[in-house]
Amino acid sequence: MTTAADSILDITHVCVTDRPLVVCDVDDVVLHFTDPFVDFLSAEGYEFLPRSFKLTGNILARESGLEIDAAEVKRLIHAFFEAQETWQLPFEDVARTLEALSADADVVFLTAMPPCYSEQRRRLLDRLGLAFPMIASEEPKGPIMRRLNAERILPTTFIDDMAYNLHSVREHMPDSLLIQLMPDTPLRLMAPKPQDDIVRARDWRHAEELIRGHWQPR
Ligand SMILES: [Mg+2]
Repeated sequence: MTTAADSILDITHVCVTDRPLVVCDVDDVVLHFTDPFVDFLSAEGYEFLPRSFKLTGNILARESGLEIDAAEVKRLIHAFFEAQETWQLPFEDVARTLEALSADADVVFLTAMPPCYSEQRRRLLDRLGLAFPMIASEEPKGPIMRRLNAERILPTTFIDDMAYNLHSVREHMPDSLLIQLMPDTPLRLMAPKPQDDIVRARDWRHAEELIRGHWQPR
């Protein structure tokens, strides 16, 4: 039987070796998302009000003052991804940290972005010195990471800002080190919290310490 996780998603371009695996989300982990998206909305004539941790219902058309509907929110998110090379910037220390980790581990980006914007994202990451393999998929992340890791029994790490992605990986890769990394914005204070055993990294330097600690024999 074919399940959603075994579906048509092609990950054959990602080669993992016999080293530890570090799988990393992109939006609001490697590249800023929320802040530039709010700026993009403003440039397009919209205003974002961080009243709760969601986009639909919190974006107003400036001219009418009315909330826009889910279809219009989706259109704007897609337009932002289309134009991401103009808007998105990396977090501090991310390129240096991933480069250092990649001397000892396989680093892979797993981005929950519509795959049709992969070319823009690939160009942007490459331009920023983040030339690690990337998988773009809106499927649950846990099954994808399990497929990627296959039967290897080396240390694995997953880094994401969203609790539901961290929980998905924990369900399918229970021995992984799970790190939450996210910008400190008012919006984030309203986000669902991950479960207690998921560690929050302050920044990329802290994340590197946690990852290298996970590689030490216990
Ligand atoms: Mg993210």
